[in-house]
Amino acid sequence: MTAVNPHYLKLQGSYLFSTIAKKVAAYKEAHPQAQVISLGIGDVSQPLVPAVVDALRQASLEMGQAETFRGYGPEQGYAFLRETILQGDYISRGVNLSADEIFVSDGAKSDVANFQELFSADAKIALQDPVYPVYLDTNVMAGRTGPYQAGRYGGIIYLPCVEENNFLPQLPSEHADIIYLCSPNNPTGAALTKAALKKWVDYALEHHSIILYDSAYEAYITQADVAHSIYEVPGAEKVAVEFRSFSKTAGFTGTRCAYTVVPKGVMLTTPDGGQVSLHSLWLRRQTTKFNGVPYIVQRAAEAVYSPQGREQTCKIIAMYQQNAATILSALKEAGLTAFGGQNAPYIWLKTPQGVDSWSFFDKLLVEAQVVGTPGVGFGACGEGYFRLTAFNTPQLTEQAARRVADLTF
Ligand SMILES: *Cc1c(COP(=O)(O)O)cnc(C)c1O
Repeated sequence: MTAVNPHYLKLQGSYLFSTIAKKVAAYKEAHPQAQVISLGIGDVSQPLVPAVVDALRQASLEMGQAETFRGYGPEQGYAFLRETILQGDYISRGVNLSADEIFVSDGAKSDVANFQELFSADAKIALQDPVYPVYLDTNVMAGRTGPYQAGRYGGIIYLPCVEENNFLPQLPSEHADIIYLCSPNNPTGAALTKAALKKWVDYALEHHSIILYDSAYEAYITQADVAHSIYEVPGAEKVAVEFRSFSKTAGFTGTRCAYTVVPKGVMLTTPDGGQVSLHSLWLRRQTTKFNGVPYIVQRAAEAVYSPQGREQTCKIIAMYQQNAATILSALKEAGLTAFGGQNAPYIWLKTPQGVDSWSFFDKLLVEAQVVGTPGVGFGACGEGYFRLTAFNTPQLTEQAARRVADLTF
């Protein structure tokens, strides 16, 4: 028989969401009258905005006419979208990039998962704990870790993000080749200021490391000193790749569109002591393995930047931000300590003394019929924390918040 990639066997089962689903199903079966509300979902509840739907409809009609039909497009995305992203997200913030440094894709998850294949097998990886699982698992699959023991994979530099450091990663004392940063953060909601991000860029410049910067929640930033793009920090264009997505910005979780910025100045070393640009490698990778995002979807993403598209998507984000505020004030009323929710749709609450993440999950389900996500599911440092999301409807969020506010701990 053919042998398996042994690194896949190191992966820990992703029991988090299936365990949650099982517990909720069992509870509902035992309590058929219960109105269970989920504040656990990482998916949006609001539909695509009219400007986006109009663009989808228009582009669909074009696809049905011989004169305007499009077949394979450029793997990196159509120029109209890359130019629009450049103007709308970068030039407008004083960041100078060029449109061919932007690669349009079908998701930040796949890009961030695929990117690691450009690095050598022995590259040393640093990532936040708790963490979005994709960064870690894809490096496990690629064989960059040892086995899993006592909650940790060997060979990984874990950067604990806990209350003592305001859930912000601290520079490692050892050398890291690749650093994954997610800001604003899923699951903690913490966000790096430009000053904090500068320390990471300086570290990367000094250590010749590369930062993979996941900024999927950029649209939720409210505080003026939080960085919208890592390229706002001088020097980042030599060391950083940035991942963005239309998923949480414009409700594209099912429509699928994202983009990755790979500046031409980011270099890797070759075995013979030379240099090669990361940009040329990612271009090679994408043109070999990817055939681009549907034309109609790219037109839909372009419409997010139109005046109507911006106005309409901003309203929805403001609504989710209001949900976050509602949840935060309910938690305060219940006497709980909570973080996040200011620059991200995630609230990271501290479970009461002596109550672990899963016990808190059970209590919330049984006593308030509210579902959230145990922090320990995102990493060892998430134990004693619990994630609530602001993505439900205002009505259900308010209802859930009232129930939580009435709990005693
Ligand atoms: C939701 C999310 C994404 C977006 O992924 P898509 O594949 O673009 O839907 C990326 N990173 C993080 C941390 C996320 O939570």
